[in-house]
Amino acid sequence: GYQRILEENRKLYNQVQDLKGNIRVYCRVRPCHHNQTSVGNIDEGSISLIIPSKNGKDGKKTFTFNRCFGPNVTQAEVFADTQPLIRSVLDGYNVCIFAYGQTGSGKTHTMSGPNNPTEETVGVNYRALRDLFLISEQRKDTIHYDIRVQMLEIYNETVRDLLSTDGVQKRLEIRNSSLNGINVPDANLVPVQSTADVLSLMDLGFKNRAVSATAMNDRSSRSHSCLTVHVHGKDLTSGKTIRGSIHLVDLAGSERVDKSEVTGDRLKEAQHINKSLAALGDVISSLAQKQQHIPYRNSKLTQLLQDSLGGQAKTLMFVHIAPEQDALVESISTLKFAERVSTIELGAAKVNKDSADVKELKEQIANLKAALAQKD
Ligand code: ADP
Ligand code: MG
Repeated sequence: GYQRILEENRKLYNQVQDLKGNIRVYCRVRPCHHNQTSVGNIDEGSISLIIPSKNGKDGKKTFTFNRCFGPNVTQAEVFADTQPLIRSVLDGYNVCIFAYGQTGSGKTHTMSGPNNPTEETVGVNYRALRDLFLISEQRKDTIHYDIRVQMLEIYNETVRDLLSTDGVQKRLEIRNSSLNGINVPDANLVPVQSTADVLSLMDLGFKNRAVSATAMNDRSSRSHSCLTVHVHGKDLTSGKTIRGSIHLVDLAGSERVDKSEVTGDRLKEAQHINKSLAALGDVISSLAQKQQHIPYRNSKLTQLLQDSLGGQAKTLMFVHIAPEQDALVESISTLKFAERVSTIELGAAKVNKDSADVKELKEQIANLKAALAQKD
């Protein structure tokens, strides 16, 4: 009884959060590789960094996010807080989930899991697709869903198809059509029926990515990779159609490259990365501030995601930091970036058709809290 009430309370809280703001930021810290950590206290919604000082009195800087996950939080626990977003894809929403952070901070771990993941260690990508299949199966008597997958890479402002089977990696165009919205017509869009289908596609995607990596060592940390799932639903009784999508994006490493040290291709790469990550930050913060003009056109990344950022779309950013002391400067700049895109205060002010639902859910939480108090 008690456990169940707690769980219900938590579920409703998540729902309220879900309706409140459509941009959420979760911070994740991976385990520390050695004892020298720069991370102090981590709780549900905040994280502090320890700032060493010469006089021996260390400083502290605290950052606030929708959720914070410490080094011992499992993949399943991280995904549990993401799940409501997956359901909304099948209800016709466009969803975008990003992994942001410096190289080595855990972006790929969150999205894909480690190499050869197990049931416990698989990442958000696989879990999201598994849920999509599960829920569409549950609804199969009322809605028929068609699920298709695309995998793209953006490297130096060029879009390429990671699911191309002929090995040719053409430069692709992003189009905007009234019928399909933003799309990349020349990239493979593969129908999938099961998680096994998805796994073999992910495999192909990884292989294609590896091919390009040999030309330029470890290209994956300098390109964005985007797994997109398009969902078309047909209501079997009303005949109405539902269109939703989810982009799962493993962003390029956010580390600042010292421009005095790099030249040629490396400098060009660094400039492109900085430009597109800055463009993403600008788009999200203009959305958060409800500005009239949203600068989608400033990068390929924001062009590609235009349909899925803002409006009725839902956005989640996983912000990763490496806990080691020698990453402190990067960690501070990462968390500052994340706070800039976060809408913790603005979220509550959002007035939309869901506000009545929020009110109702809040009442239910109050009732559950009262029930809990009585148990004590
Ligand atoms: P990125 O994609 O940001 O460059 P990775 O995801 O490759 O970083 O992570 C770097 C290393 O840390 C990898 O060896 C990865 O397996 C490990 N790692 C990252 N996050 C976690 C975590 N939450 N728990 C355990 N190991 C992790
Ligand atoms: Mg990576």
